[in-house]
Amino acid sequence: MLGGGICGLAAGFTLAEHGERVTLLEAQDFLGGLATTLRGATNAGYDFGPHAYHARNQRVLDMFKEIASDGFPARAKNVRIKFRGKYYKYPLEAMDIARSMSPLLAARAFFDYFIEVVRKRVRPRKMVSAEDWVIQGMGKTLYGMFFGPYTTKVWGIPPSQLAASFAQHRIPQINLWKVAVSSFRQGLDKITEGEHKYAPLVVQLYYPPKGAGLVSQRMADRIRAASPDNRVITRALVTGLELTGDRVSAVRYRRVASTAQDGQLCLIATGTEPGLETYRFEGAEERIECDRVVNTLPLPALFALLGDGVSPAAQRAARELRFRALTIVGLRFRKPKVLPAQSVYFQDKTFNRVSETRNYGGTEICPPDETVVLCDITCETGDAIWTATAADLGRRCARELAAEGFCREEDVAECVVLRSTTGYPVYLVGFEAVMQTLVDELMRFDDLVTGGRQGLYKYVDMDIASEMGITMAEHLLSGRTKREAIGAVPYEDRLFG
Ligand SMILES: Cc1cc2nc3c(=O)[nH]c(=O)nc-3n(C[C@H](O)[C@H](O)[C@H](O)COP(=O)(O)OP(=O)(O)OC[C@H]3O[C@@H](n4cnc5c(N)ncnc54)[C@H](O)[C@@H]3O)c2cc1C
Repeated sequence: MLGGGICGLAAGFTLAEHGERVTLLEAQDFLGGLATTLRGATNAGYDFGPHAYHARNQRVLDMFKEIASDGFPARAKNVRIKFRGKYYKYPLEAMDIARSMSPLLAARAFFDYFIEVVRKRVRPRKMVSAEDWVIQGMGKTLYGMFFGPYTTKVWGIPPSQLAASFAQHRIPQINLWKVAVSSFRQGLDKITEGEHKYAPLVVQLYYPPKGAGLVSQRMADRIRAASPDNRVITRALVTGLELTGDRVSAVRYRRVASTAQDGQLCLIATGTEPGLETYRFEGAEERIECDRVVNTLPLPALFALLGDGVSPAAQRAARELRFRALTIVGLRFRKPKVLPAQSVYFQDKTFNRVSETRNYGGTEICPPDETVVLCDITCETGDAIWTATAADLGRRCARELAAEGFCREEDVAECVVLRSTTGYPVYLVGFEAVMQTLVDELMRFDDLVTGGRQGLYKYVDMDIASEMGITMAEHLLSGRTKREAIGAVPYEDRLFG
């Protein structure tokens, strides 16, 4: 098992409970990857941004409930967005959008939308980029007011450079008519068939009171408990894969130091990022022979680790995949409550979103007279956000939160940062062809499966990442070849490659 995020753990847990011998290698000194809870100076819990469990897949939800059987309460979703100076429910509804505009602007927005409806019938736009998709669904005025600027801020590039499929998968609701209809529905009724997989429309959220990382921790415990032969090794950076023909016969790794230092609780990285030194080695390279490998490391890292064992075309393709890096600033406050919602989205702040773990149900992550707020900031490795100290970023976020009237700067008792080089896969225009090259190449390796948010380069949540892990394990247990199992399944529907 390469990688101890929730996908690798779900795969390892499934194999271990079927009596298979499992060795899991994880570079960090903790388990769970992005689905983790790390501890600050007073043991307060900091999650990697809010990590609420969604109820989209009954089988996976039942598994989460069984693993966190001592507490896995659900809460109704309560997320806000600051839009044109006011707070609205997220996702935005037609009436909110209309209320935020002058009558003239509203008339222009609806006129633009009407033009798109006619155009779709007469001469539909070619769907190349996310910009094409959103303009077709919303019209140019609404696109320019919200989606364009916000996407550029979060992803660091304009929607014209992001693939249409990015918008199709993440925001299928981007149709003014659907938004209008959904405005008049309530609660669970808001979700129509087919929309249930779209994260922003999920209305029921589960959160372990001790923090999101509890589920990952328990899965690791169960892998260990299933057999004394099973090994879950942390601070083990995978550094190479040895091939014998089309089989991975051994995995090489090196012991590394924790990435925690000076208020940074972690820096998740693959060790293969060009020009970035993220790990301090603590020993010589070690080697484990193996018969089957489940990869959940980011796909470009997998191809780098396979080296000349894969074709030059695949090596080139893997280098084209991009990730947006992520810095989470965690603030512990000397007061029991800070935000008026679980999360609030902003267009004009350093952070894209702020969240209060307690409001999601993470009620035991710190004492009741304190609270933890998490600020998500997307960035590029090496830029000013990435290299800033925890103290500087903490002060900056506290100032911006105080300016919104949520708190006083002096209420902050602790600032920490959590970083990852692979926060979000960036679906650039043309990425589907790149992915096709990579998944075609991987069909050669029947004993190597890859999945998860990073391992299959898919913008998925914990429930789908876990489903991918379980599916990879069941595939290996089935004894079928990859061609039999997924040969005819298109990339976008695959749970592993
Ligand atoms: C800000 C943010 C908020 C989110 N909120 C939610 C939410 O509310 N609900 C939800 O369901 N999902 C949420 N998600 C998505 C969720 O985090 C992911 O879907 C899930 O955690 C992915 O799990 P994974 O195991 O596939 O990947 P990861 O968690 O990234 O695991 C990959 C693991 O591989 C390890 N690794 C990498 N390179 C090496 C190497 N060379 N050697 C050894 N180990 C290595 C990493 O350290 C990591 O532990 C959110 C994601 C982000 C970024």
